[in-house]
Amino acid sequence: MLKCEICGNPADKHHIVYKSQGGIEFPLNFRYLCTHHHRGKTGPHKNRRLDLEYKLSMQRKLEDILIKEFYLVEELESLLKINKGMIKRLFKEYKQSDKGYKRSDIIFKLMGRKKYDENMILESKILEEVTFKTRV
Ligand SMILES: [Zn+2]
Ligand SMILES: [Zn+2]
Repeated sequence: MLKCEICGNPADKHHIVYKSQGGIEFPLNFRYLCTHHHRGKTGPHKNRRLDLEYKLSMQRKLEDILIKEFYLVEELESLLKINKGMIKRLFKEYKQSDKGYKRSDIIFKLMGRKKYDENMILESKILEEVTFKTRV
């Protein structure tokens, strides 16, 4: 049985980049979370800041793993554990040179065609504070 990464209770698979955002099935896109830490108030579906933190840390992992400028399908398959067919479908809009797909295109696409940065998290923190103050 899968266990929650935070508390150890039985867990579901959470997709860091949601399937509805273009997220795909591969290990780096998964977090294992119990109902409370997944769908609860402090989980990524209800807490925008946490959602962004998960996404930013996934993007950083991708940046750490993919250090070359170009990657071939076979390399991506073994580095990221994404099957070949999926990679080809995913990147068919991008040109593949003889060296492969461009690093920046790969990361952008795997993040659901978005680039995340620290500012987005800061903005969501400010928004949280404002919401909190208006509630009080
Ligand atoms: Zn939990
Ligand atoms: Zn989820």
